[in-house]
Amino acid sequence: MNQALVLLKERLAMMTDLNLTSSILNWDQTTMMPDGGSDSRGRQMATLAKLSHSLLVSEETGELIRQITPWAQTQPQENMDAAFVHEAARLRNLEVNVPSSLNSEMTEHYSRMYTAWTIARPNDDFAALKPLLVKSVELSKKFSDCFKNMDHPMDALIQYADFGVTVKSAKQLFSELRSQLVPLVKRVTSANQIDSSCLQGDFDETAQLEFCKTVARQLGYDFNRGRLDLSAHPFMTRLSGNDVRITTRAIRTDLTDCLFSVIHEVGHALYEFGINPVLDGNILAGGVSSGVHESQSRLWENHVGRGKPFWDYFYPILQKNFPHFEKFSQSHFIRAINKVDPGFIRVDADELTYNLHVMIRFDLECQLLEGTLSVRDLPDAWNARYKSDLGISVPNMKNGCLQDVHWFGGRLGGAFQGYTIGNILSAQLYDTAHHILPNMEQDFVIGDFSKLKAWLNTNIHQWGASISPDRLIKLSTHQDLSIHPYMTYLSEKYSSLYNL
Ligand code: ZN
Repeated sequence: MNQALVLLKERLAMMTDLNLTSSILNWDQTTMMPDGGSDSRGRQMATLAKLSHSLLVSEETGELIRQITPWAQTQPQENMDAAFVHEAARLRNLEVNVPSSLNSEMTEHYSRMYTAWTIARPNDDFAALKPLLVKSVELSKKFSDCFKNMDHPMDALIQYADFGVTVKSAKQLFSELRSQLVPLVKRVTSANQIDSSCLQGDFDETAQLEFCKTVARQLGYDFNRGRLDLSAHPFMTRLSGNDVRITTRAIRTDLTDCLFSVIHEVGHALYEFGINPVLDGNILAGGVSSGVHESQSRLWENHVGRGKPFWDYFYPILQKNFPHFEKFSQSHFIRAINKVDPGFIRVDADELTYNLHVMIRFDLECQLLEGTLSVRDLPDAWNARYKSDLGISVPNMKNGCLQDVHWFGGRLGGAFQGYTIGNILSAQLYDTAHHILPNMEQDFVIGDFSKLKAWLNTNIHQWGASISPDRLIKLSTHQDLSIHPYMTYLSEKYSSLYNL
């Protein structure tokens, strides 16, 4: 193998190890660490970020990339080593723009802010977070200023999560979706409403976690290579191809919060487990974009986990574990878990209104970064949008702009577009898989999800970040990203559920 390629791989493997070590510290902070550890944890993570950044932007790394790039350019697209060189060049080209001191400052700030948020949110204390949020906006702007030739300040942030997407293209996609989604939401909310009171009860948290573990295992989550813990905001983290962890939270009165969070995070984890093991420790060993990642979680959560075939298998098990459900039929339960109910919390939102939450956040982030909205006015702007878009009055900050870890645990801006892209793509992928595997849902009825998982493994997971999101979508579904399969899915599903 070319000596420059060997050396480049060695350097970037070190960088990857530093980043993964930081992920362990982050996992510990969100699951185990006492609040008192916040300041030192911030400093430790900032140190790792600094070392990782300096390895990537160093002259030595730049020189190795320059030496090897002519070779990489002559290779076919599927050559993994060439893909590695292209990705290294892309990452370095991004990071050379950002001073190491800014990266460290951001890491330290977000770590402190996360702990402050976990304390302030239950107390509805926006005042305590306001100065920290002002600093987050400042840091995002400073970060964005490092990049030249951006049409919008948020474009600089988006390119890290969803390469190839811009504020302009996301807004175009959102407006196309909105024009079809809003009339459907109106038709559904004007129809006879579904009674979902069967979901309310008293469900022991430990029993919820045990049931969720059973579901996770059956979907293909490997507990020998992962674990499930509790955190304020559910997430998945990859520490290696053989250590992919998920978290959830459990609410005693409603087990669906825990259950669908787990199925969602399992979807993310199956993606990471399925990445070709030869890429482990490599910069390509990870999901290619937040949109593609989210397509995996939403596919399992909604297309599988809210469907009849899934519950044909799991409903008797649920009833056995929670006798509360013995008095409700399976069809009653399925209608309840698919009820459209415009609410305050994005992660609890039904499939129809979910994207409206995303679009509100996306627009508010754009305004904060453009400087057309100040942090002081954020709660009012937030509440006004919930009134106009979802028709609801937000009762307090913890169900409003303080609701989740976004904005309080990482860079402000550049993440939300991925949620809606993921929803759109989940339908496109499920549609394609179903076309190729017409009997796959018959297997779900007997608790066998392996055919769908294998199809996703072959077409999405194994490639990691070696193929660009656009190309991956085209290769796996034979078309560009399109809202049509998604709108057809939503329209058919809710027309049937609500007798439209
Ligand atoms: Zn997710």
